[in-house]
Amino acid sequence: MARHELEELVDGEVLAPGATGYDAARKVWNARFDRRPDVAVRCTSAADVAATVRWARANDEQLSVKGGGQSYAGHTVADGGVLLDLSGMSGIKVHAEDRLARVEAGATWAQIDSATQHHGLATTGPTASSVGVAGSVLGGGTGWLSRRFGNAVDNLVAVDVVTADGEQVRASADEERELFWGMRGAGANLGIATSFELRLHEVGPQVLAGQIVYPFDDAEGVLRAYRSFMADAPDDLQCLAFTFRAPPIEPFPERFHGQPVLDLIVFHLDPGADDVVAPLQELGEPLLDAVGPMTYVDAQQAFDPNLPAGQRYYSQAHDVAELSGAAIDDFAAHVRTMRGALTAAYLEPKGGAVARVPGASTALGGRGAAASFHIIAGWTDQAEDDDVMAWAHGFNDAMAVHGTGGVYVNLIAEDEDDRVLSAFSDSTRVQALKARWDPQNHLRANHNVLPA
Ligand SMILES: Cc1cc2nc3c(=O)[nH]c(=O)nc-3n(C[C@H](O)[C@H](O)[C@H](O)COP(=O)(O)OP(=O)(O)OC[C@H]3O[C@@H](n4cnc5c(N)ncnc54)[C@H](O)[C@@H]3O)c2cc1C
Repeated sequence: MARHELEELVDGEVLAPGATGYDAARKVWNARFDRRPDVAVRCTSAADVAATVRWARANDEQLSVKGGGQSYAGHTVADGGVLLDLSGMSGIKVHAEDRLARVEAGATWAQIDSATQHHGLATTGPTASSVGVAGSVLGGGTGWLSRRFGNAVDNLVAVDVVTADGEQVRASADEERELFWGMRGAGANLGIATSFELRLHEVGPQVLAGQIVYPFDDAEGVLRAYRSFMADAPDDLQCLAFTFRAPPIEPFPERFHGQPVLDLIVFHLDPGADDVVAPLQELGEPLLDAVGPMTYVDAQQAFDPNLPAGQRYYSQAHDVAELSGAAIDDFAAHVRTMRGALTAAYLEPKGGAVARVPGASTALGGRGAAASFHIIAGWTDQAEDDDVMAWAHGFNDAMAVHGTGGVYVNLIAEDEDDRVLSAFSDSTRVQALKARWDPQNHLRANHNVLPA
């Protein structure tokens, strides 16, 4: 590989194995993936990205792209080829009067929330603040604000893209409209985003948020009441039915330590909406009831410690058609046999603004589903891989019966390529776009779509 040639073409560092910074560039959140590109380019601009793509094509080198590095499926970094590390491109400009933020593709949601909240503004982004804007927005982007303001794709106004040919284009409602449609849900397959223009909304600074943790003994009953509550819940409220192992600390009594518990994680845009949330606090005897006013930034970061980087993770998911009694019973039964010390499984209701966006208006599918079901199996020791992943497969297979057949693309595992097309509102249209913008499938370190 003529690395020195590449150094002449870009402003960013070009790092070969052994160079200072090479290991940091290839490091990702999920410890199951430890891959070594031939070279990592720490891009500093869209021009760096374009030059690197053109060079890689001319030299027949594989490409991988790193934003926040939080792909569940380990798609961030490939073995061999050229890694475009965009994590240093994290500039954010907030145009408060226009309610817009221009965000470079290496920014994380912690950075975006901090910059936008400075102006009392925010937009929908994941409930974990270390996630990158690029991977999340290009796949869909759900969060606490989804039911009120739609998903991240619904707030994407424009995106600057370097194509698989190394050309720079802008996609929006006025320019490259068809590409813009595809970048909102299938984006990682169609081009390399270098910056995003996101619509902002008045949010915070205070919101109502926190968790109500119930013993799992009566999970079936609590989840049925939760389902009824969410059926009529206002768009300003979101509540995840989350399960994890209770840690060996106060306020959890000893008999619950290490056992699965049911955690209703609550968010409401109005810090004074205690009355709205109250019914969720009365579904049994909570082990922990800690809901109160807090800043939006704190709410966004509250659960960051639960899924720490550097552990082993495996993701499984389905869009759920209806939270039927049978779906709830299957969910609870499998949580009771949970494997993996760090495992979480949850139901994330959809509805609200997400469901009101016409299905065909973006590539993102699944808008009509009742909820997203997601297992994040988490553990530390490689020796547990087979056991934990077999449990996750069994759980996911059981929940498939209750699914729509679709899934959120960002939650698909690396060994489920046959499910990728089910994530889109119109898979034929996505495949046609792939054929138009990346006919030779250079962008394939992702949940890959083959050109039509
Ligand atoms: C702890 C945790 C919590 C999460 N919570 C949520 C949540 O609440 N809501 C939600 O919607 N998702 C959530 N996710 C999923 C998340 O949206 C995806 O994992 C997303 O792909 C991560 O984006 P990234 O930029 O951090 O990842 P990366 O690993 O850097 O990239 C992910 C994929 O996007 C591609 N990509 C990266 N940058 C670009 C670019 N500039 N242009 C084109 N393609 C690019 C990569 O090639 C790769 O295929 C969560 C993930 C984790 C690990």
